Amino acid sequence: MNISTHCGGFCQTNGYLIETGNGAVAIDAPEGMFHFCKQKGVKPTGLLLTHQHFDHVEDAALFHENGIPIYASEPFSRDLQLEGLLRTWGLTIQIEEFAVEHILATENSPLPLADLEFELRAVPGHSPDSFVFHVALFQKLFGGDTLFADGGIGRTDFPHGDHDLLIRSIREQLLPLPANTEILPGHGPSTTIGQEIVKNPYLA
Ligand SMILES: [Zn+2]
Repeated sequence: MNISTHCGGFCQTNGYLIETGNGAVAIDAPEGMFHFCKQKGVKPTGLLLTHQHFDHVEDAALFHENGIPIYASEPFSRDLQLEGLLRTWGLTIQIEEFAVEHILATENSPLPLADLEFELRAVPGHSPDSFVFHVALFQKLFGGDTLFADGGIGRTDFPHGDHDLLIRSIREQLLPLPANTEILPGHGPSTTIGQEIVKNPYLA
């Protein structure tokens, strides 16, 4: 398994491309993510979205238009994408509509894609639709905007954010994972569960 990272858009959002001997999976679609895959000559089997905040879905329509199915916990939603907030910031980012072919649900976990098994965990708080994807075999967690390196957590001051709920999600869904599980977050460098248990002031 090989994982490469594309960081794009004005929020410096991470998209991950996981390649296996039998396909590839993209995690999140910041600006430039589709081109990143194309440049590598890779057409992913699917695009998994950790949540629909605008900076994670800017390129999602390009995946859809090119026949790559999208997996997310909710159908396309401009409300979840924070369109209203963007307008109040004076930003004109327009998310092109895309179809969510597969609705993620924990009952359907693990999700088999490209010879990997993605364990689906619902982690509401940063946004109500947040999911993380755990690949136990390789001890990787695609964490979206939950836990960040060096003591950060996802923002909860956006519409639909809930700080206490995020902390509960992290405690119940992330911290029980093995300490050496690598977290590949939606922003910034990777970390591990063990490091964040020690360092993260929100988990003290
Ligand atoms: Zn977000």
